[in-house]
Amino acid sequence: MSVNQQAHTGPPYGQPQPGYQGYQQPAYGGQPLPGEQYGAYNGPMPGYQQPGPPQGYFPSLGFPSKGSPVSINSDTSSLPPNFIGSLRAPPTTGAPPPASGAYNQFGHGDVQNGIPTSAAPVQRPPASQPFLPRSAPSQQYGPPPASVQQLTNHMAGMTIVSTTASAPPPAGLGYGPPTSAPPVSETFSAPYTPYTASPGPPPTTVFQGPPLAQPPFPAQPMSMQRPPTQVPGFAPPPPSTGLGPSPYPPPAGAPRPPPMPGPPLPGQSLAGPSASQPNHVSSPPPPSPMAGPHPGPPMGGLHGPPPPTHPPQPGYQIQQNGSFEQVRGPQPNYPGAYPGAPNYGSQPGAPPPPKRLDPDSIPSPIQVIEDDRNNRGSEPFVTGVRGQVPPLVTTNFLVKDQGNASPRYIRCTSYNIPCTSDMAKQSQVPLAAVIKPLATLPPEENLPYLVDHGESGPVRCNRCKAYMCPFMQFIEGGRRFQCCFCSCVTEVPPQYFQHLDHTGKRVDFYDRPELSLGSYEFLATVDYCKNNKFPSPPAFIFMIDVSYNAVKSGLVRLICEELKSLLDYLPREGNMEESAIRVGFVTYNKVLHFYNVKSSLAQPQMMVVSDVADMFVPLLDGFLVNVNESRTVITSLLDQIPEMFADTRETETVFAPVIQAGLEALKAAECAGKLFIFHTSLPIAEAPGKLKNRDDKKLINTDKEKTLFQPQTSFYNNLAKDCVAQGCCVDLFLFPNQYLDVATLGVVPYQTGGSIYKYAYFQLETDQDRFLNDLRRDVQKEVGFDAVMRVRTSTGIRATDFFGAFYMSNTTDVEMAGLDCDKTITVEFKHDDKLSEDSGALLQCALLYTSCAGQRRLRIHNLSLNCCTQLADLYRNCETDTLINYLAKYAYRGVLSSPVKAVRDALISQCAQILACYRKNCASPSSAGQLILPECMKLLPVYLNCVLKSDVLQPGPEVTTDDRAYIRQLVTSMDVAETNVFFYPRLLPLTKADVDSDSLPAAIRNSEERLCKGDIYLLENGLNIFVWVGVNVQQGLLQNLFGVSSFNQISNALNALPVLENPFSRKVRSIVDMLQVQRSRYMKLIIVKQEDKLEMLFKHFLVEDKSLNGGASYVDFLCHMHKEIRQLLS
Ligand SMILES: [Zn+2]
Repeated sequence: MSVNQQAHTGPPYGQPQPGYQGYQQPAYGGQPLPGEQYGAYNGPMPGYQQPGPPQGYFPSLGFPSKGSPVSINSDTSSLPPNFIGSLRAPPTTGAPPPASGAYNQFGHGDVQNGIPTSAAPVQRPPASQPFLPRSAPSQQYGPPPASVQQLTNHMAGMTIVSTTASAPPPAGLGYGPPTSAPPVSETFSAPYTPYTASPGPPPTTVFQGPPLAQPPFPAQPMSMQRPPTQVPGFAPPPPSTGLGPSPYPPPAGAPRPPPMPGPPLPGQSLAGPSASQPNHVSSPPPPSPMAGPHPGPPMGGLHGPPPPTHPPQPGYQIQQNGSFEQVRGPQPNYPGAYPGAPNYGSQPGAPPPPKRLDPDSIPSPIQVIEDDRNNRGSEPFVTGVRGQVPPLVTTNFLVKDQGNASPRYIRCTSYNIPCTSDMAKQSQVPLAAVIKPLATLPPEENLPYLVDHGESGPVRCNRCKAYMCPFMQFIEGGRRFQCCFCSCVTEVPPQYFQHLDHTGKRVDFYDRPELSLGSYEFLATVDYCKNNKFPSPPAFIFMIDVSYNAVKSGLVRLICEELKSLLDYLPREGNMEESAIRVGFVTYNKVLHFYNVKSSLAQPQMMVVSDVADMFVPLLDGFLVNVNESRTVITSLLDQIPEMFADTRETETVFAPVIQAGLEALKAAECAGKLFIFHTSLPIAEAPGKLKNRDDKKLINTDKEKTLFQPQTSFYNNLAKDCVAQGCCVDLFLFPNQYLDVATLGVVPYQTGGSIYKYAYFQLETDQDRFLNDLRRDVQKEVGFDAVMRVRTSTGIRATDFFGAFYMSNTTDVEMAGLDCDKTITVEFKHDDKLSEDSGALLQCALLYTSCAGQRRLRIHNLSLNCCTQLADLYRNCETDTLINYLAKYAYRGVLSSPVKAVRDALISQCAQILACYRKNCASPSSAGQLILPECMKLLPVYLNCVLKSDVLQPGPEVTTDDRAYIRQLVTSMDVAETNVFFYPRLLPLTKADVDSDSLPAAIRNSEERLCKGDIYLLENGLNIFVWVGVNVQQGLLQNLFGVSSFNQISNALNALPVLENPFSRKVRSIVDMLQVQRSRYMKLIIVKQEDKLEMLFKHFLVEDKSLNGGASYVDFLCHMHKEIRQLLS
């Protein structure tokens, strides 16, 4: 390799560069946070004020209020004032524990209950104490590698001969995502009969369930369960034609019924209050034996005849041949039918008569969200009570930790789980927890306290290794404790001993977070570290594609300009003056360019590695540097990179060697870290991990469709495994102009806990804001490295399945090279024994990770759930949003191994079984023809339909293979709030916004018939924001919002709303800004004019309507579910 071969990459590096005008740097939002004050911990009392960051998005999120930076070799001086803990002697310097107790002691190793040195209280250091890194990791590079490679140093104009010893990644079998493939036979064996196959059921009528009445909820032990879903008193029919729900009775705050001793039968009481929320569909008279219109009076809307024993209800008819369709509203007459039922609605010889089911009479997501806000948004959610169902994710509420983890960390599909496996199987309700271990909290809430037990480390159960938590029972005067998970009795280490009060509670109960709080952290000892060595601070490596497309689009220049300022905002520990994270830089096309940015250099130096087959890092010293020390050199480098490659003609790229290079650099530096890779094209250059274009949309709806979601080679799985072992997390920013195989490129980011961002057809003018906002947030957000998570449970259930962005090498430990504050792991539980109502069920999630300053920590979240012997209790304490999160992830994993249609059918079947079980066991036996939905699950059909219609499970023609792979991976790490808005987008009538208030206009249901031609609407789903403008919008509004005088003048090329000085413009822009802050990604803003061609894209998100690619309308799907349920019951 010589300099000449690199000529196309531009002028020799280091030559004077022509001054260029950088693009206008967008204002950089925010300042570094001041150091957090660590208040005295006085138990879980209110009033702890934490100078937290402002809402949403901050320059620095690294564990800001984790208290003081505790020196890794913690000793008495490293503890905060006023904090009670055990005094430990300074650590001994040598004598690492036996190897067996080393890194994988987490979960397996012995508890160090060694002889304590003292039991005196210790204090944290004052917040201003500087954090002292253990060592300078730059000194730790290993010896030069052994084989010989030629390098070219462009800057110095000399040829460097370097050596390498980087072993190729282990060949061998792809390990595959452990536990990932659902057992197909189990999953998809449920009976599913297309509903065209049997005569239609009698028409059904939708009734309304009572709104969820909430007691004043702070502390009512055991009364937090939802009341049994009563069949609402058969409300008198609405007075007119279904233009709205019946007047909503005001039972908010009404007292709950007392807990019932037996199985409350929600269907038994017919005298409940009438309410606007239907959860209950009953049957009008059966259809006539003749196909065709019902012989009775037309059933349309509210004009149907009353069912024999009930007052008239809104209803719809179903054809005897099973076909029926919605005709209400301005729905276009789509040719498609319900997916999977090809003949639906098109049976010859029986023209369907007009039939209607009033959409206002079926359960409304908007109403449920509103009710929960009104009922539960005003009081804090206090976690002291077992099995409480938290407010919905769409409700703003504060959390007070009194012994259970906040729902921001853990949400469950049900908070009252069946005592036996048989009951669980009968109900088919999945038992799952959605866990977000490093979730960002609002500034009003306390971050978990950091507990330092010194050298002995956290106190754990001798048998199951569970960590000390509020549910451990101290016995024998406090000398032992009985494990709440496995019942084993363990000696209390002497230094941890404390007397009990007359109630059996330790007298230091409120002084110790691990005894009184649901969430807290332990400082980990060296036994929890790899190789028995405390970790070095992590490193960030920025790896920029400098091939033709990247340079020509302006992307390379944009990234380099941004990094100059962004590097000042790397995550920092609490009050550290500067980030401990070191940075490194690589550019690449077919070859890789490494840069030496050592602070002592006058100019950066480039080293080229062109032998990408056996990647190694050509420089050891000067590659990873401290930003402040090397600022001049880094700035010079970032100025020069765009110039150096300005004339490149290289279009081909490599990909796997880029990851390998980053991995090798972290290995050499003996640290964990993150690679930020900015990549534009399918890597077709000759190199390991080279890919071919295998996109084939013809595979859709065939048995081979699953291959579109699978990686085309196992190479990346093996690479991911190596990355996880090193703690090398990969974040991938993609800028494709064509297919680049996200399914394969995404394997390493996905399995290392990283993120993928995708900007198709990236254009500087329209996409730079979105990309830069994402990049800033991604670089700055709170992140832990080298993480291992284990979920322990009480005897009777255990964690059996896991969903998310991680790697598993065994069946219990979830490994993540990196875990950030947005990442969620969904865990499914199964019974392995009986549970008892008395003791309930406990979960303990323990996350071992390295903080951004290199501190090894354990974050513990505990949650106690109720257990029941009556199915009704299960159904009363479910959370549908969490259920949907689980079901979507389950289905999205299913498409890797099963035909998409089978996945859809299995979802429908499972939900039908869930609802049928409720109907059979918990609802009134007198209402045979009714669809009765549990109060807590009345939105299950509408939300399930949204999952079924999503791009992954039912793509329209405009959805690319890469889009589907991208969405599939994205959803897999979403939390409950994100899946909620992703599947059922938020639709806001902007013209109804109150310009004088901070509030959002009330959301409306996602259906075209809810839109008025004279209004402007906003729809958001976490990835996009659409602003839809009706054709009849008043000129004044158009002028105020867009600065144009007519509808035709609105440009749909706008990617932002113009900044105009009037109240309406300000209000709408503030709404958009507010939504952007709430989401973990910057949403793309798209202006849609009614009847414009872009409107098709927008209508795709009106999820209650029939979709163009065959997705059922909500009304049709509800009818379909009803039929499925009836078949199961008959
Ligand atoms: Zn135990």
